[in-house]
Amino acid sequence: MKTYNLEHWQQQATDLAIEGRAFINGEYLNANKQKTFECISPIDGRHLANIAMCQQEDADKAVIAAREVFESGTWSKAAPAKRKKVLLRLADLIEQHGEELALLETLDMGKPISDSLNVDIAGTLRSIRWSAEAIDKIYDEVAPTPEGQLGLITREAVGVVAAIVPWNFPLVMASWKLGPALASGNSVILKPSEKSPLTAIKLAALAKEAGLPNGVLNVLPGFGHEVGKALALHNDVDTIVFTGSTAIAKQLLVYAGQSNMKRVWMEAGGKSPNIVFADAPNLDEAAQAAAGAICFNQGEVCTAGSRLLVEASIKDEFIKKVTEAMKSWQPGNPLDPNTNVGAIVDQTQFERVLGYINKGQDEGANVCVGGDKATPVANGLYIQPTMFSEVKNSMAIAADEIFGPVLSVITFNSTEEAIAIANDTPYGLAAGIWTTDLSKAHKMAKAVKAGSVWVNQWDGGDMTAPFGGFKQSGNGRDKSLHAFDKYTELKATWIKL
Ligand code: NAD
Ligand code: MN
Repeated sequence: MKTYNLEHWQQQATDLAIEGRAFINGEYLNANKQKTFECISPIDGRHLANIAMCQQEDADKAVIAAREVFESGTWSKAAPAKRKKVLLRLADLIEQHGEELALLETLDMGKPISDSLNVDIAGTLRSIRWSAEAIDKIYDEVAPTPEGQLGLITREAVGVVAAIVPWNFPLVMASWKLGPALASGNSVILKPSEKSPLTAIKLAALAKEAGLPNGVLNVLPGFGHEVGKALALHNDVDTIVFTGSTAIAKQLLVYAGQSNMKRVWMEAGGKSPNIVFADAPNLDEAAQAAAGAICFNQGEVCTAGSRLLVEASIKDEFIKKVTEAMKSWQPGNPLDPNTNVGAIVDQTQFERVLGYINKGQDEGANVCVGGDKATPVANGLYIQPTMFSEVKNSMAIAADEIFGPVLSVITFNSTEEAIAIANDTPYGLAAGIWTTDLSKAHKMAKAVKAGSVWVNQWDGGDMTAPFGGFKQSGNGRDKSLHAFDKYTELKATWIKL
């Protein structure tokens, strides 16, 4: 997509009309209690909109609408080819409104406009289109039964799906759920993060324009402990699909147990090891990737390469290279297309990240890059990408998911030690391995407990491959045909012949 210049985006931002209401059963509505909360841009503290603060009654209303249309069959039983057509139209509309959506994303959560365009909007389009294209190509099964029996194995939409998503890639995370959920025929209630509700709200109108029947997609902005909890405890929600923190993921399991045992699928946190051996094919390239792995999206990435495990023999040389590489990642105005590090999403997160930077120093780690806030734009929330050396895996900066641009360098002396450190975490989302030794690469790839493993690169991924975590990084997978498992129930039908 075209990236324009800073003045263009500043003008567009001034001219923007922002919708802040909820979307229930095909129309924009205020929250039942008329409550709102403020949406403030981390770029410069500007007030963007007042957002509907949905609560229990709004959740109830949306669930009724979602259930009714699901049972009516207008979407759930529509021909797959028809659902495909509507979803492809939705993707076309997202593309047509791509610049507006990208701007909303950048204003709301502070990420660079170039990333909003080239990563977020592009990724959303790919996700919706891929799921739409899949739906009339997935076949059911016939079981290999004895003569006299016909065993049909079919998939049915689960019903009402509540999708609760985070703020770091608001539209992309939503689209990973919405694509397969809607393609399979479910009704969806999307609960965006209170920190980044704008694009989800806009998306609702586009879905209606694309021809999605009323009630099939509802959007409920509001707080997690209010409307999120109401959905998670609701007895008529069949499935929760979640992306967010491990702490909230665990809470959702409790809510499911306290209510109707709804299915809970989650993509949660990470503290991913990026493991560089002395025999890496190209240490400069590995250093560039290590910097990008913690600086991209301000480090607010579930798969951030936040633990850099470096073989002791190349430690000094490699830290020097990463230090150099991090110089090209500097906070700037997110509306400037040349900016590659934007603002931190909000005050709370900003203070949390700075708190960890202080803690790392208190724990005895050494700041070798960054270590402070930055002010490329007055009244904005910016932090210098920061690298700590002399980190022990037991320190808080190495153990906790910081979700900011803070890198911990840990050294190791053997393959076995690298594996032990890599797996010494409750998380298991991703891992990187840099080596020219083929057998070591395979051995490591098998040994690390992670849903995605990247060899001699960081952050490989595509709609064609599943994404998700081991251990406390979650269960189930987004993307690929495996994602459809979450949105369908398997039915075995036995016919006596
Ligand atoms: P979060 O867990 O605080 O919030 C996620 C969502 O849950 C938000 O919409 C929030 O409103 C809602 N929520 C909060 N409390 C709730 C409750 N009691 N009941 C129901 N819903 C509730 O996470 P976040 O800060 O928005 O996002 C950052 C986290 O997301 C990080 O841990 C990150 O690793 C994770 N994440 C994971 C992936 C992945 O695919 N594995 C991708 C992106 C982000
Ligand atoms: Mn925001």
